[in-house]
Amino acid sequence: MGPDRGVKREGSGEGGLASRLTVEDLPTEVLRGRRIFLRVDFNVPLDDRGRVTDASRIRGALPTLVDLRRAGGRLILASHLGRPGGKGDPATTLAPVARELENLLGAPVRFLEESPESRAVQDAVDELGEGDVALLENVRFEPGETKNDPGFAEVLASLGDHFVSDAFGSAHRAHASTVGVAQQIRKKGGRAVAGFLMARELRFLDEALRDPGRPFVAVLGGAKISGKIEVVDAVLKRVDRLLVGGAMANTFLRALGLEVGRSLVEEDRVPLAREILEETGDRLLLPVDCVVAPEIERGVEVEVRARDAIRPEDRIADIGPETVRLYGEELAKAGTVVWNGPMGVFEVPPFDQGTRRVAEVLAQATRGGTVSVVGGGDSAAAAEAAGVAEAMSHVSSGGGASLELLAGKVLPGVEVLEAREPETAGPGSTS
Ligand code: ADP
Ligand code: MG
Repeated sequence: MGPDRGVKREGSGEGGLASRLTVEDLPTEVLRGRRIFLRVDFNVPLDDRGRVTDASRIRGALPTLVDLRRAGGRLILASHLGRPGGKGDPATTLAPVARELENLLGAPVRFLEESPESRAVQDAVDELGEGDVALLENVRFEPGETKNDPGFAEVLASLGDHFVSDAFGSAHRAHASTVGVAQQIRKKGGRAVAGFLMARELRFLDEALRDPGRPFVAVLGGAKISGKIEVVDAVLKRVDRLLVGGAMANTFLRALGLEVGRSLVEEDRVPLAREILEETGDRLLLPVDCVVAPEIERGVEVEVRARDAIRPEDRIADIGPETVRLYGEELAKAGTVVWNGPMGVFEVPPFDQGTRRVAEVLAQATRGGTVSVVGGGDSAAAAEAAGVAEAMSHVSSGGGASLELLAGKVLPGVEVLEAREPETAGPGSTS
């Protein structure tokens, strides 16, 4: 990281995802002694005693932190945690995250618990020396954050000379700390670039999505139906096969006119699911059998039913073995696979089996040359639990963000970063 800092490197072509400047492109003179507003994604899981149960998101930002500290930057970190809804909430304070970061970094982290608008925070930032690190309290305690309020963005921008984003997982949201602050810092003449984690995500997803190996297969599951079904259309335009599991499958089964009992369904999305089914024919695959139980509880007795034999008292909590076999066949012959969302309630055994088997088959395919990208907090956790996360080509830190990229959307939190200069016209150029 040291010696080639600030050296011009080749971009990955015009408009490519990976064509953003990174911290490596900023010479030390630009960073030394300057206040760096670093947006990270420290939206980590906490237990009921407020302890961090999985620090991988914090660990993910360490290379950028170490590099910027070494360059003599004064670091002001910002993140969200959970959904406190624009006001203070002890359950989602970043205080335990500040302590965890301190342990992992091996250096003091000053936790700024007051509002970024307060005098106390402004003074604390002024006092930061070269290489010092401060962490703001959860930005979603502020009502202006999710509204991308220009006033709040200006307050944030007053805390930094330059902007660095390592928050790929938040890049699909135009919020004050992901987009507004970067725009205002750039307006003041500051720089706005990607950190190492962000750059790595963009490079990887760019490669995987720009020219995917065929067949190109997407696997969608999980519970956030409304957030995901909207992108199904766009995803279907790009992939050869879409395998649906999780609660989203229930909405599609309803659209086929099938009984789903007491399963989780989004009734108001059933018409949309029906439209999608009419348009897409056999490119979209639905479960042919389901694991059902009267209640979704650990160790409960389960039954496997064909999808047209679900009873009114059943709850669908996983895909069945025949579905696993069918989906496995698709995965085994895929060139590129993007997986977002577990196939069932994987946190509650025995409903983890479908997800586990799909993860294993995907890992196996990857060993045979398939490019596999797993995105989403729960999907990543499921791959981890199945012991195959290491075997995947890439485990993305952003579920929603990677899904929107797959749907061909531009991420506002990426767009706001400085683009690498377009390459000079080559011999093949017509202009
Ligand atoms: P990700 O974090 O990977 O993007 P989501 O957050 O969308 O995934 O969904 C994960 C959740 O979906 C898990 O908590 C899981 O229990 C739940 N889920 C999966 N299948 C079902 C189902 N059939 N019924 C209810 N919940 C489900
Ligand atoms: Mg989730």
